[in-house]
Amino acid sequence: MCLFCKIVNKEIPANVVLENENFLAFHDINPKAPVHILAIPKLHVDSFNEVTGETMAGMTEFIQGLVKEIKIDASGYRVICNVGEDGGQEVKHLHCHILGGAKLKWEHFSDADPKDFL
Ligand code: 5GP
Ligand code: ZN
Repeated sequence: MCLFCKIVNKEIPANVVLENENFLAFHDINPKAPVHILAIPKLHVDSFNEVTGETMAGMTEFIQGLVKEIKIDASGYRVICNVGEDGGQEVKHLHCHILGGAKLKWEHFSDADPKDFL
């Protein structure tokens, strides 16, 4: 069973922020912003490559409710799904990072020379 499935099953503790029948949100153990929450489907899906539109529709509504609840909807935030090797996905259970609580930087994402990909 994967790490996030163990969190869903309460085999590993997590600092839960919000939960409904299908989704769970908890604080990232290694926050990269004042607010850094992970939102996951309770049913295991490997990554964004495999997830259904129906699940992502549920995830969208769940995250919209979450950001209202923690009052960052007006100030703004970022939603990121890392996918696969180049995306830097470490946990192979689909998760959206919700980052906020401060003005976020928008820096280069790769050490590659921009002339190689622009
Ligand atoms: P990824 O790199 O796969 O997109 O993100 C995985 C995230 O999970 C990382 O930001 C990492 O800090 C977080 N993480 C890894 N293990 C745990 C854990 O056991 N508990 C919590 N709450 N977060 C974790
Ligand atoms: Zn899983």
